[in-house]
Amino acid sequence: MMDLHTFCRGCPMCEVHVHFEGTLEDNQAELIASRNDIKLTRPRILDMRPGFQYSSLQDFLDPYYEACSVLLYENDFRDVAYEFLKKQSAGNVRHTDMFFDPQAHISRTNPRTGRKITFGTVIRGIRKGIKDANRDFGVTCNLVMCILRHLTEKDALECFAQAVPYLKWITALGLDSGERGNPPRKFKRVFALARACGLPVRAHAGEEGPAAYIWQTLKVLKGTIIDHGVACVDDEALMVYLRDNQIPLTMCSLSSLRLRVINTLAQYPVGRLLLFGLLVTLNSDDPAYFGGYLKDVLIATAEAQNLTIHDIYKLARNSWLASYCTDAQKSAGIADLDDFYKLALTPALTAVA
Ligand SMILES: [Zn+2]
Repeated sequence: MMDLHTFCRGCPMCEVHVHFEGTLEDNQAELIASRNDIKLTRPRILDMRPGFQYSSLQDFLDPYYEACSVLLYENDFRDVAYEFLKKQSAGNVRHTDMFFDPQAHISRTNPRTGRKITFGTVIRGIRKGIKDANRDFGVTCNLVMCILRHLTEKDALECFAQAVPYLKWITALGLDSGERGNPPRKFKRVFALARACGLPVRAHAGEEGPAAYIWQTLKVLKGTIIDHGVACVDDEALMVYLRDNQIPLTMCSLSSLRLRVINTLAQYPVGRLLLFGLLVTLNSDDPAYFGGYLKDVLIATAEAQNLTIHDIYKLARNSWLASYCTDAQKSAGIADLDDFYKLALTPALTAVA
Protein backbone atom coordinates (compact mmCIF):
# COMPACT_ATOMS: atom_id res chain seq x y z
CA MET A 1 0.00 0.00 0.00
CA MET A 2 1.17 3.49 -0.85
CA ASP A 3 2.41 5.68 2.02
CA LEU A 4 0.64 8.93 2.90
CA HIS A 5 3.38 11.22 1.57
CA THR A 6 3.49 9.53 -1.81
CA PHE A 7 -0.30 9.67 -2.02
CA CYS A 8 -0.40 13.40 -1.16
CA ARG A 9 2.37 14.24 -3.63
CA GLY A 10 0.91 12.22 -6.47
CA CYS A 11 -2.86 12.61 -6.27
CA PRO A 12 -4.38 14.63 -9.12
CA MET A 13 -6.37 17.55 -7.71
CA CYS A 14 -7.33 21.22 -7.93
CA GLU A 15 -6.48 24.23 -5.83
CA VAL A 16 -9.44 26.53 -5.24
CA HIS A 17 -8.06 29.19 -2.87
CA VAL A 18 -4.81 30.86 -3.84
CA HIS A 19 -3.98 34.52 -4.51
CA PHE A 20 -1.95 35.53 -7.56
CA GLU A 21 -0.17 38.17 -5.46
CA GLY A 22 0.69 35.58 -2.79
CA THR A 23 2.59 33.39 -5.25
CA LEU A 24 5.31 35.98 -5.91
CA GLU A 25 8.49 34.53 -4.44
CA ASP A 26 11.40 36.70 -3.20
CA ASN A 27 13.78 35.74 -5.98
CA GLN A 28 11.22 36.48 -8.69
CA ALA A 29 10.31 39.84 -7.09
CA GLU A 30 14.01 40.75 -7.09
CA LEU A 31 14.43 39.68 -10.70
CA ILE A 32 11.45 41.76 -11.88
CA ALA A 33 12.52 44.71 -9.68
CA SER A 34 15.96 44.76 -11.27
CA ARG A 35 14.67 44.60 -14.87
CA ASN A 36 12.20 47.43 -14.06
CA ASP A 37 14.91 49.40 -12.28
CA ILE A 38 12.96 49.51 -9.03
CA LYS A 39 14.57 49.44 -5.62
CA LEU A 40 12.60 47.49 -3.07
CA THR A 41 12.67 49.80 -0.06
CA ARG A 42 11.83 47.03 2.35
CA PRO A 43 13.16 43.77 0.95
CA ARG A 44 11.25 40.80 2.23
CA ILE A 45 13.10 38.79 4.80
CA LEU A 46 10.77 35.89 5.21
CA ASP A 47 11.15 33.51 8.05
CA MET A 48 10.21 30.11 6.69
CA ARG A 49 10.74 28.04 9.84
CA PRO A 50 7.75 25.71 10.26
CA GLY A 51 6.72 27.34 13.56
CA PHE A 52 7.01 30.93 12.33
CA GLN A 53 3.96 33.20 12.85
CA TYR A 54 3.31 36.77 11.72
CA SER A 55 2.69 39.09 14.66
CA SER A 56 -0.35 40.60 12.92
CA LEU A 57 -2.16 40.67 9.60
CA GLN A 58 -0.41 43.99 8.83
CA ASP A 59 2.93 42.31 9.48
CA PHE A 60 2.09 40.03 6.54
CA LEU A 61 0.41 42.66 4.33
CA ASP A 62 3.36 45.13 4.39
CA PRO A 63 5.85 42.91 2.54
CA TYR A 64 2.95 41.57 0.42
CA TYR A 65 2.12 44.97 -1.08
CA GLU A 66 5.79 45.96 -1.20
CA ALA A 67 6.51 42.96 -3.43
CA CYS A 68 3.50 43.82 -5.65
CA SER A 69 5.04 47.23 -6.39
CA VAL A 70 7.58 45.64 -8.76
CA LEU A 71 4.80 44.55 -11.17
CA LEU A 72 4.47 47.25 -13.84
CA TYR A 73 4.03 45.68 -17.26
CA GLU A 74 1.94 42.91 -18.83
CA ASN A 75 4.99 40.68 -18.98
CA ASP A 76 5.60 41.03 -15.23
CA PHE A 77 2.09 39.76 -14.47
CA ARG A 78 2.51 37.07 -17.12
CA ASP A 79 5.74 35.75 -15.62
CA VAL A 80 4.34 35.48 -12.07
CA ALA A 81 1.29 33.50 -13.23
CA TYR A 82 3.43 31.27 -15.48
CA GLU A 83 6.01 30.40 -12.80
CA PHE A 84 3.27 29.60 -10.27
CA LEU A 85 1.35 27.34 -12.66
CA LYS A 86 4.59 25.56 -13.55
CA LYS A 87 4.91 24.69 -9.84
CA GLN A 88 1.26 23.58 -9.74
CA SER A 89 1.94 21.24 -12.66
CA ALA A 90 4.99 19.75 -10.90
CA GLY A 91 2.76 18.96 -7.88
CA ASN A 92 0.07 17.37 -10.12
CA VAL A 93 -2.31 20.23 -9.27
CA ARG A 94 -4.09 20.14 -12.59
CA HIS A 95 -6.48 23.03 -12.19
CA THR A 96 -6.39 26.26 -10.15
CA ASP A 97 -9.09 28.81 -9.38
CA MET A 98 -6.89 31.83 -8.71
CA PHE A 99 -7.83 35.10 -6.99
CA PHE A 100 -6.33 38.38 -8.09
CA ASP A 101 -6.66 41.83 -6.46
CA PRO A 102 -6.94 44.44 -9.24
CA GLN A 103 -7.27 47.27 -6.69
CA ALA A 104 -3.76 46.49 -5.41
CA HIS A 105 -2.43 47.32 -8.89
CA ILE A 106 -4.66 49.91 -10.56
CA SER A 107 -4.10 52.25 -7.62
CA ARG A 108 -0.36 52.31 -8.39
CA THR A 109 1.59 54.53 -10.76
CA ASN A 110 4.30 53.15 -13.00
CA PRO A 111 7.30 55.26 -11.84
CA ARG A 112 8.91 54.95 -15.28
CA THR A 113 5.96 56.33 -17.26
CA GLY A 114 4.14 58.35 -14.59
CA ARG A 115 0.90 56.66 -15.70
CA LYS A 116 -1.48 54.51 -13.66
CA ILE A 117 -1.32 50.76 -14.17
CA THR A 118 -4.50 49.75 -15.99
CA PHE A 119 -6.92 46.90 -15.36
CA GLY A 120 -6.14 45.73 -18.90
CA THR A 121 -2.38 45.47 -18.20
CA VAL A 122 -3.04 43.33 -15.12
CA ILE A 123 -5.55 40.91 -16.62
CA ARG A 124 -3.95 40.59 -20.06
CA GLY A 125 -0.65 39.74 -18.40
CA ILE A 126 -2.10 37.12 -16.06
CA ARG A 127 -4.16 35.63 -18.94
CA LYS A 128 -1.01 35.30 -21.07
CA GLY A 129 0.72 33.45 -18.22
CA ILE A 130 -2.25 31.09 -17.92
CA LYS A 131 -2.37 30.44 -21.68
CA ASP A 132 1.37 29.82 -21.89
CA ALA A 133 1.27 27.46 -18.88
CA ASN A 134 -1.64 25.57 -20.43
CA ARG A 135 0.33 25.18 -23.68
CA ASP A 136 3.55 24.08 -21.90
CA PHE A 137 2.24 22.02 -18.95
CA GLY A 138 -1.43 21.22 -19.72
CA VAL A 139 -2.69 22.82 -16.49
CA THR A 140 -5.78 25.06 -16.47
CA CYS A 141 -6.64 28.12 -14.39
CA ASN A 142 -9.72 30.29 -13.90
CA LEU A 143 -9.56 33.84 -12.55
CA VAL A 144 -11.58 35.07 -9.59
CA MET A 145 -11.48 38.84 -9.22
CA CYS A 146 -11.44 39.95 -5.58
CA ILE A 147 -12.67 43.14 -3.98
CA LEU A 148 -10.41 44.52 -1.23
CA ARG A 149 -12.79 44.85 1.71
CA HIS A 150 -10.72 47.36 3.70
CA LEU A 151 -11.42 49.89 0.91
CA THR A 152 -14.75 51.63 0.34
CA GLU A 153 -17.83 50.47 -1.55
CA LYS A 154 -17.25 53.35 -3.99
CA ASP A 155 -13.75 52.02 -4.72
CA ALA A 156 -15.20 48.52 -5.29
CA LEU A 157 -17.85 49.81 -7.71
CA GLU A 158 -15.25 51.79 -9.66
CA CYS A 159 -13.03 48.73 -9.91
CA PHE A 160 -15.94 46.57 -11.09
CA ALA A 161 -16.75 49.14 -13.78
CA GLN A 162 -13.17 48.78 -15.06
CA ALA A 163 -13.57 44.99 -15.09
CA VAL A 164 -16.71 45.01 -17.25
CA PRO A 165 -14.90 44.92 -20.63
CA TYR A 166 -12.96 41.86 -19.43
CA LEU A 167 -15.76 39.81 -17.84
CA LYS A 168 -15.30 37.03 -20.40
CA TRP A 169 -11.95 36.33 -18.72
CA ILE A 170 -13.31 36.46 -15.17
CA THR A 171 -15.04 33.38 -13.74
CA ALA A 172 -16.32 34.72 -10.40
CA LEU A 173 -16.21 37.61 -7.93
CA GLY A 174 -14.69 37.25 -4.44
CA LEU A 175 -13.95 39.38 -1.37
CA ASP A 176 -10.65 39.39 0.54
CA SER A 177 -8.25 41.40 2.80
CA GLY A 178 -8.75 42.37 6.47
CA GLU A 179 -12.04 40.87 7.61
CA ARG A 180 -12.68 42.49 10.98
CA GLY A 181 -14.97 45.52 10.76
CA ASN A 182 -15.56 44.91 7.04
CA PRO A 183 -18.66 42.68 6.86
CA PRO A 184 -19.72 41.15 3.53
CA ARG A 185 -22.92 43.25 3.49
CA LYS A 186 -20.76 46.38 2.98
CA PHE A 187 -20.41 45.20 -0.66
CA LYS A 188 -23.99 44.08 -1.27
CA ARG A 189 -24.43 46.30 -4.34
CA VAL A 190 -21.27 45.33 -6.20
CA PHE A 191 -22.02 41.64 -5.60
CA ALA A 192 -25.58 42.09 -6.89
CA LEU A 193 -24.09 43.73 -9.98
CA ALA A 194 -21.71 40.83 -10.52
CA ARG A 195 -24.55 38.30 -10.19
CA ALA A 196 -26.61 40.31 -12.68
CA CYS A 197 -23.64 39.92 -15.08
CA GLY A 198 -23.85 36.14 -14.61
CA LEU A 199 -20.86 35.71 -12.28
CA PRO A 200 -21.02 33.29 -9.34
CA VAL A 201 -19.84 34.98 -6.12
CA ARG A 202 -18.01 33.98 -2.94
CA ALA A 203 -16.22 35.68 -0.03
CA HIS A 204 -13.48 35.21 2.54
CA ALA A 205 -15.57 34.82 5.68
CA GLY A 206 -15.08 33.39 9.14
CA GLU A 207 -11.27 33.42 9.09
CA GLU A 208 -10.74 36.23 11.62
CA GLY A 209 -14.38 37.32 11.48
CA PRO A 210 -17.42 35.72 13.15
CA ALA A 211 -19.82 33.04 11.89
CA ALA A 212 -22.29 35.87 11.15
CA TYR A 213 -20.05 36.89 8.21
CA ILE A 214 -20.51 33.41 6.75
CA TRP A 215 -24.30 33.75 7.01
CA GLN A 216 -24.06 37.19 5.33
CA THR A 217 -22.00 35.74 2.49
CA LEU A 218 -24.67 33.08 1.93
CA LYS A 219 -27.81 35.15 2.47
CA VAL A 220 -26.89 38.74 1.53
CA LEU A 221 -24.21 38.27 -1.14
CA LYS A 222 -25.73 34.93 -2.27
CA GLY A 223 -22.30 33.33 -2.26
CA THR A 224 -21.99 29.71 -3.39
CA ILE A 225 -18.52 29.10 -1.88
CA ILE A 226 -17.09 30.16 1.50
CA ASP A 227 -13.38 30.97 1.59
CA HIS A 228 -11.84 29.83 4.92
CA GLY A 229 -15.06 29.47 6.97
CA VAL A 230 -13.22 28.33 10.13
CA ALA A 231 -15.71 30.18 12.39
CA CYS A 232 -18.60 27.92 11.31
CA VAL A 233 -17.56 25.65 14.20
CA ASP A 234 -19.06 28.28 16.56
CA ASP A 235 -22.54 27.89 15.05
CA GLU A 236 -24.09 24.42 14.94
CA ALA A 237 -27.02 25.51 12.73
CA LEU A 238 -24.54 26.96 10.22
CA MET A 239 -22.51 23.75 10.14
CA VAL A 240 -25.68 21.79 9.41
CA TYR A 241 -26.69 24.28 6.69
CA LEU A 242 -23.25 24.10 5.04
CA ARG A 243 -23.33 20.30 5.17
CA ASP A 244 -26.90 19.87 3.92
CA ASN A 245 -26.34 22.27 1.03
CA GLN A 246 -22.80 20.98 0.32
CA ILE A 247 -21.44 24.55 0.20
CA PRO A 248 -17.69 24.26 -0.43
CA LEU A 249 -15.37 25.61 2.28
CA THR A 250 -11.93 26.49 0.93
CA MET A 251 -9.79 26.05 4.04
CA CYS A 252 -6.14 27.08 4.37
CA SER A 253 -4.46 25.51 7.41
CA LEU A 254 -0.89 26.83 7.07
CA SER A 255 -2.22 30.34 6.40
CA SER A 256 -4.38 30.25 9.54
CA LEU A 257 -1.41 28.98 11.54
CA ARG A 258 0.94 31.72 10.35
CA LEU A 259 -1.68 34.42 10.85
CA ARG A 260 -2.39 33.16 14.39
CA VAL A 261 -6.00 32.17 13.76
CA ILE A 262 -4.87 28.89 15.39
CA ASN A 263 -1.81 28.07 17.50
CA THR A 264 -1.11 24.56 16.21
CA LEU A 265 -2.10 22.67 13.06
CA ALA A 266 -3.70 20.02 15.25
CA GLN A 267 -6.31 22.64 16.31
CA TYR A 268 -7.42 23.37 12.76
CA PRO A 269 -10.95 21.97 12.31
CA VAL A 270 -10.53 20.48 8.82
CA GLY A 271 -10.56 16.85 9.99
CA ARG A 272 -13.55 17.48 12.23
CA LEU A 273 -15.56 19.20 9.48
CA LEU A 274 -14.69 16.47 6.99
CA LEU A 275 -16.03 13.91 9.45
CA PHE A 276 -19.19 15.99 9.92
CA GLY A 277 -19.79 15.73 6.16
CA LEU A 278 -18.96 19.25 4.95
CA LEU A 279 -17.50 19.76 1.49
CA VAL A 280 -14.13 21.00 2.77
CA THR A 281 -10.99 21.52 0.70
CA LEU A 282 -7.41 22.35 1.67
CA ASN A 283 -5.44 25.13 -0.03
CA SER A 284 -2.26 27.20 0.22
CA ASP A 285 -3.77 30.77 0.17
CA ASP A 286 -0.45 32.67 -0.27
CA PRO A 287 2.19 29.98 -0.78
CA ALA A 288 5.17 32.35 -1.02
CA TYR A 289 4.35 33.67 2.47
CA PHE A 290 2.86 30.81 4.43
CA GLY A 291 5.52 28.14 4.10
CA GLY A 292 4.25 25.84 1.40
CA TYR A 293 2.44 25.01 -1.81
CA LEU A 294 -0.70 22.88 -1.87
CA LYS A 295 0.94 19.48 -1.49
CA ASP A 296 3.11 20.76 1.40
CA VAL A 297 -0.06 22.02 3.10
CA LEU A 298 -1.72 18.64 2.57
CA ILE A 299 1.19 16.70 4.09
CA ALA A 300 1.72 19.02 7.08
CA THR A 301 -2.00 18.99 7.90
CA ALA A 302 -2.38 15.24 7.40
CA GLU A 303 0.50 14.61 9.80
CA ALA A 304 -0.76 17.04 12.45
CA GLN A 305 -4.30 15.65 12.34
CA ASN A 306 -3.55 11.97 11.69
CA LEU A 307 -5.53 12.05 8.45
CA THR A 308 -5.70 8.83 6.44
CA ILE A 309 -5.24 8.24 2.71
CA HIS A 310 -9.03 8.03 2.52
CA ASP A 311 -9.33 11.51 4.10
CA ILE A 312 -6.83 12.92 1.59
CA TYR A 313 -8.76 11.21 -1.21
CA LYS A 314 -11.94 12.96 0.01
CA LEU A 315 -10.19 16.34 0.17
CA ALA A 316 -8.84 15.86 -3.36
CA ARG A 317 -12.28 14.76 -4.63
CA ASN A 318 -13.85 17.81 -2.96
CA SER A 319 -11.30 20.05 -4.69
CA TRP A 320 -12.67 18.94 -8.07
CA LEU A 321 -16.27 19.42 -6.92
CA ALA A 322 -15.56 22.89 -5.48
CA SER A 323 -13.71 24.11 -8.59
CA TYR A 324 -15.10 26.10 -11.50
CA CYS A 325 -13.99 23.33 -13.90
CA THR A 326 -16.46 22.23 -16.55
CA ASP A 327 -18.48 19.09 -15.77
CA ALA A 328 -16.38 17.14 -18.29
CA GLN A 329 -13.15 18.31 -16.63
CA LYS A 330 -14.50 17.35 -13.21
CA SER A 331 -15.54 13.86 -14.34
CA ALA A 332 -12.17 13.23 -16.00
CA GLY A 333 -10.26 14.57 -12.97
CA ILE A 334 -12.25 12.48 -10.48
CA ALA A 335 -11.87 9.36 -12.67
CA ASP A 336 -8.07 9.83 -12.62
CA LEU A 337 -8.17 10.41 -8.88
CA ASP A 338 -10.24 7.21 -8.37
CA ASP A 339 -7.67 5.23 -10.38
CA PHE A 340 -4.84 6.69 -8.29
CA TYR A 341 -6.71 5.84 -5.08
CA LYS A 342 -7.24 2.22 -6.20
CA LEU A 343 -3.56 1.96 -7.04
CA ALA A 344 -2.68 3.36 -3.61
CA LEU A 345 -4.71 0.65 -1.86
CA THR A 346 -3.25 -2.20 -3.88
CA PRO A 347 -0.92 -4.38 -1.78
CA ALA A 348 2.58 -4.51 -3.25
CA LEU A 349 2.84 -7.38 -5.70
CA THR A 350 5.10 -10.10 -4.37
CA ALA A 351 7.22 -12.08 -6.72
CA VAL A 352 5.86 -15.56 -7.34
CA ALA A 353 8.55 -18.20 -7.25
ZN1 LIG B 1 -7.28 33.99 0.87
